[in-house]
Amino acid sequence: MNELLEKIKVYYPKADLEVVKRAYEFAENAHKDHVRLSGDPYFTHPLAVANILAELEQDHLTIAAALLHDVIEDAEVSPEELVAIFGEEVARMVEGVTKLSQFSFYSREERQAENFRKMFVAMGEDFRIIIIKLADRLHNMQTLQFLSPAKQKEISLETREIFAPLAHRLGMWRLKWQLEDLAFSFLEPKEYENIKQKVVVSRGEREAYIAGFTEKLKELLGQMKIQAEVNGRAKHFYSIYRKMTDQNLEFEDVYDLVAVRVIMESIRDCYAILGMVHAAWAPIPGRFRDYIAVPKSNGYQSLHTTILGPDGKPVEIQIRTRNASRGGIRHCRPLAI
Ligand code: AMP
Ligand code: MG
Repeated sequence: MNELLEKIKVYYPKADLEVVKRAYEFAENAHKDHVRLSGDPYFTHPLAVANILAELEQDHLTIAAALLHDVIEDAEVSPEELVAIFGEEVARMVEGVTKLSQFSFYSREERQAENFRKMFVAMGEDFRIIIIKLADRLHNMQTLQFLSPAKQKEISLETREIFAPLAHRLGMWRLKWQLEDLAFSFLEPKEYENIKQKVVVSRGEREAYIAGFTEKLKELLGQMKIQAEVNGRAKHFYSIYRKMTDQNLEFEDVYDLVAVRVIMESIRDCYAILGMVHAAWAPIPGRFRDYIAVPKSNGYQSLHTTILGPDGKPVEIQIRTRNASRGGIRHCRPLAI
């Protein structure tokens, strides 16, 4: 319990930890006779979900609701009892998550709008219900090996087709790629292993590399007195796989395994930064695209280049204005709700 409480204190010093403590004790007791398919005490699950949410820096009531999220369904606790002990707000979240788990989500594309509608109706009640549901799904995916192969496939497909797109739309990028990579490992295990072996370096190492590169880039921007935001990401396995299959590429032809984006206000600065980047690191021939001068058909405008970064590793760099980055959100079909 202390580990969880300490984690919350770091990002939310004023959190009411009493309610988290009570939820912890209540849920642990309510689930004391249940076990997971892994053989672990059932309470390890809500506790893991609460920890995922603490890592996402959610508020104390969300964490309390996460600890309690299965007590109505699996321990026959009544909603009224939850209201009496934890108050309306927590009780409503727990009820919301319980209701969502009773829906069946269709995995066929044409049912997508209906699935999203259900989710957004729940979200209309309280946005945090969906966040708990996504964290719940992530932990279930992390422990999916204990289910039958048929169940593994079914749940992974639902994760890929419904929960990952939802995380994407909510801008919860970390959740999204974790869900997609786990689903990938169960749905196409051979391809997953293949890509994993080719990437070689761990995610942690790739993230550290990006952090170092970003720092250097920011230093150069500082010298040019240009205000810009820099962010980077390590491409996840499923995205690498999709790019290879969609564009019929070999692994070696995927140049954006590590990539950064520089966002600033003026177009003139974009070109100034490009010049600076090419002076600092050698560009890879044939990898430069000027989508500012020649926008993509959807209006997307950005400069793309790939350079050889520290240790001779290719790094993709996208340089764009804030306006372009608002217009350029990908994979977002309009919602039919
Ligand atoms: P991808 O794997 O290329 O589909 O990208 C996954 C996520 O990373 C999306 O949210 C992209 O917006 C983001 N992303 C893609 N390229 C870059 C980049 N060069 N720098 C920073 N983020 C990126
Ligand atoms: Mg990309």
